[in-house]
Amino acid sequence: MDEFVEWGTKLARPARYDVLFEPVKIGPVTARNRFYQVPHCNGMGYRDPTALAHMRGVKAEGGWAVICTEQVELHHTSEITPFIELRLWDDRDIPALSRMADKIHEHGSLAGIELAYNGMNGSNLYTREVPMGPAHLPVATFTYDPVQARRMDMEDIKNVRKWHLAAVRRAKRAGFDLIYVYAAHALGFLHHFLSRRYNQRTDEYGGSIENRIRLMREITEETISAVGDTCAVPIRISVDELMGEGGLYKEEVEDMIGLMGDLPDLWDVTLAGWENDSRTSRFAEEGAQEPFILGIKRLTSKPVVGVGRYTSVDRMVSLVNKGILDMIGAARPSIADPFLPKKIEEGRFDDIRECIGCNICVSGDFTMSPIRCTQNPTMAEEWRKGWHPEKVRRKKTDKPVLIVGSGPAGLEAAQTLGKRGYDVTLAEAGTELGGRVLKEAKLPGLSAWIRVADYRKLQLNQLPNVATYFESRLTADDVLSFGIPRVVIATGSTWRADGVGHYHTLPMRIAEGSQVLSPSDVMDGRMPVGGTVLVWDDEHYYMGGVMAELMAEKGFDVTYATPASEASTWTRNTMEQHFIQKRMLEKGIKIISFKALESVSPGEATLACTFTGKLEKIAADCVIPVTARLPNDALCLDLLARKPEWADSGIECVTAIGDALAPATIAHATYAGRRYAEELDQPPLAEGELPFKREITGLAPL
Ligand code: ADP
Ligand code: SF4
Repeated sequence: MDEFVEWGTKLARPARYDVLFEPVKIGPVTARNRFYQVPHCNGMGYRDPTALAHMRGVKAEGGWAVICTEQVELHHTSEITPFIELRLWDDRDIPALSRMADKIHEHGSLAGIELAYNGMNGSNLYTREVPMGPAHLPVATFTYDPVQARRMDMEDIKNVRKWHLAAVRRAKRAGFDLIYVYAAHALGFLHHFLSRRYNQRTDEYGGSIENRIRLMREITEETISAVGDTCAVPIRISVDELMGEGGLYKEEVEDMIGLMGDLPDLWDVTLAGWENDSRTSRFAEEGAQEPFILGIKRLTSKPVVGVGRYTSVDRMVSLVNKGILDMIGAARPSIADPFLPKKIEEGRFDDIRECIGCNICVSGDFTMSPIRCTQNPTMAEEWRKGWHPEKVRRKKTDKPVLIVGSGPAGLEAAQTLGKRGYDVTLAEAGTELGGRVLKEAKLPGLSAWIRVADYRKLQLNQLPNVATYFESRLTADDVLSFGIPRVVIATGSTWRADGVGHYHTLPMRIAEGSQVLSPSDVMDGRMPVGGTVLVWDDEHYYMGGVMAELMAEKGFDVTYATPASEASTWTRNTMEQHFIQKRMLEKGIKIISFKALESVSPGEATLACTFTGKLEKIAADCVIPVTARLPNDALCLDLLARKPEWADSGIECVTAIGDALAPATIAHATYAGRRYAEELDQPPLAEGELPFKREITGLAPL
């Protein structure tokens, strides 16, 4: 049996924070404190129910008083394939949901379920049923599916009410304490009925506010009469669609809430579509929703919960004291730190892992893969790998570890190994810890990313067994002379300037005298000379857009070209693409799609149409290709070449991790650091054994 080290020393918390630990009555149930994990997707859903149950269970252990599911498809006539959410289509779905509710209850928290009938948000690609909504309209999916929803008639409305009720009863049998009526995010039929931009009906379900809320009211009443004696019934609603009076707007929604004020047991208030409610830190500060949720509490005597990527404890306290919110809602802060409430309760502020607002977590849902978090590499690995955000296996040997490089990978390895009890030497060439985040956090909009370094620095401060050395650019001779048995190479990566990336797999033509700077050059302080800059983005995540923004801020005339159809196209997965393109256009950056950079010559770049190959020259004093990176693997290769000398030096293994092995996101780097540290001295896998547990669907009888 592994022995676990539990991390953290309890300290006294300021009395002014006590208010956050008051119990809150929500209808027939009571939350033990004011921390509320609102529903959030995770890319696991019905495919990975046990992993999901454990993930939620860890949050209960971390002190969240209410923990909710993601949206749960309540009937097979409305599903959102290819997205992987939970399902409650019939009784056979109950055990998976019960497993989650049980895990949440194990630690004394309340389990909430967000029942969803997506209606015109899904094409029903799996069930092939015809989608339904308030009107005949194309389905509102992310992929412009060539499918329309049909207008619901009275029989359909009656049916959906019946199906909702059946799901409510199943949810209660599954053990849930809060059963949602979901009318938010433009992600379900109730929202569509509320909003005039979808609902132009002339029957009793359209027109006046009273008519548009009728269905929400009926469903809420039916839910309460079925389960309200033991379960709380919250309503989740968007307080504004951010499109003026063309969509739902604050005053109108306040009238709706006013009409139903005390009917539900709690109001969960959100802002517009999901992309607005979960804006990245690049586009919204902590608490950006606040102006919209202000004043909701005066419309109801029931508790109100809302989100705002809150990690500042004083801010949370002021929200409660000022009567803006009763409960602090969180999705991302609870992902980055499942133990946020417990750490606040125990006064362990230095241990809080603050969300950086990057939305890598969201990309799990959009890529239908288990949720990943930049700050919390244990996310979704609680069951698969037995990782825990706050507990690590005690070391198995006394052999020390040398880590070269203190970027996200090196820092995460150092702090996790340190907590396991290993003696760690961390050597950093520079004068500060943080690697790439030190540089990237200085780029436009990315300042919150410094939290990746901040959290880990504060952890290292508490670990006397981790010794850090700055201004220590190590060579193979240095490493061999230290003779530390385990060597981790976390030396990061460098952006290429030769155009190699997705499009060109071989270097492009760059004529002598041309001015070409890589993002690494720019981050190291080199600026273009001249007036015009071309950023060619063939990486498609954030760096190309950020480079273009930086150049525009510095006063250059900037053109951004990409072989993709739009700027930073991968950021659709972090729900930022629209915001990025808007900001770039507002900064006067010219965006050119479907263009490959063919060659660069002094003062000029040649672009090729990705369809026809037609060439076009544009003026550019400097070209910044944002394409790919190369690992800084010289030290690793030198050491591998000198393997025969290892034994004499006492070195057992040399392992490259993170960007030094293969450049990827910061989330990949923290994961790589964690993985190294978690797996050190663990028994090797048997032949053919997978490095994680997986759940396999039981075969139905033939
Ligand atoms: P990752 O994302 O994989 O953590 P980073 O690029 O963020 O990688 O971090 C790499 C870190 O390694 C940087 O802080 C860099 O200064 C440091 N570094 C690179 N080469 C050496 C070396 N030979 N010795 C010590 N530190 C190094
Ligand atoms: Fe926050 Fe990024 Fe983690 Fe999501 S992935 S919880 S945004 S740090």
